Amino acid sequence: MAGDVERLRGSTVIVKGHTDIYALVDRMNRGERGVVQRYWLEKLTGAGIDVLVVAVSGDTEAHLNGAQRPLHGALELWDFFLRELAAVAPAVSIVRTKGDLPEAPQPGRLRIVLALEGGRPLEQNLAHLRNFYRLGMRVLGMSHDLRNELVDGRREGRTGGGLSRFGRAVVKEANRLGILLDVSHISDPGFVHVVEASDQPVVASHANSRAVFDHPRNFTDEHLKLLAGKGGVLGLIYIPRFIGRQHTPIDGLVAHLEHVVEVAGIQHVAVTDLGTDRDEIRMFEGAGWPYERIAQVLAERPKDIDDREQLGRLIAALLARGYSEADIGLVLGGNVRRVLAQVLPAAEVAP
Ligand SMILES: [Zn+2]
Repeated sequence: MAGDVERLRGSTVIVKGHTDIYALVDRMNRGERGVVQRYWLEKLTGAGIDVLVVAVSGDTEAHLNGAQRPLHGALELWDFFLRELAAVAPAVSIVRTKGDLPEAPQPGRLRIVLALEGGRPLEQNLAHLRNFYRLGMRVLGMSHDLRNELVDGRREGRTGGGLSRFGRAVVKEANRLGILLDVSHISDPGFVHVVEASDQPVVASHANSRAVFDHPRNFTDEHLKLLAGKGGVLGLIYIPRFIGRQHTPIDGLVAHLEHVVEVAGIQHVAVTDLGTDRDEIRMFEGAGWPYERIAQVLAERPKDIDDREQLGRLIAALLARGYSEADIGLVLGGNVRRVLAQVLPAAEVAP
């Protein structure tokens, strides 16, 4: 079994479909540089991860490093992160076109897809969508949990609000440019509006199944069918709050996976967030979060795990349940890679 796990890890393109940079930003705020090299590169390539989608900025105060204006905050973090990536080139490179995606694993190499987790930094102006595209953004999370100018987030459920006129214009322009839309964190009507408005597949990069565990961050079977009908992918997340506590977490995650496979098909599910980014707690402390909130996040993030161990456990659990190596490859990276290859431009579009 251990030999099978390692052989699969080495022969499959693995995509980690959602990552935050809070912990790196916290280190930057303390004056540290070279943090991608020091804290990410070896850890991620050693785990066998080939492609990493990174939310460089987004809607929340943490995503904006406390900046007053979202656009300014996002641009500052973008500058920080691009400089960090330049310092680790060519081992790390940015995915701007389909051709930049790896065909096969390349040990020691990491491809980064740059993302915004929420459209507040666009400041209601399509010009800034194009500017972020020029800066390499290829995934746009439409919202975080609250309302922004594009769409309502899932914590706005009482209002029944979905996509705004500006949000619809963003969907169309993102389709034209080759930016993948991410509907994690979105309200239920917003989910339906975005999937219906988009000419391209969309992803929910970190969420689970509501039929398995009823939480507003998870999606219903109807949502999953709609997503699959457009060719999209649900990326599952390893956070006990969204899994339900009836199982040990890996078994719980696999229960969500099996349900999504049944409802939407194996082509439309991935495991994208293995809950390993627990260093972000330092950022929450730095940002002055109340103790109870930090304690809650600490309690939810599984301890003593890293990407390498977690991926190994997941692969072993899927092998034990009789999944074929081809299907495990789809779940670990093949499906998200397919959607990126479909949506991203073949050559850089002149915005
Ligand atoms: Zn998120």
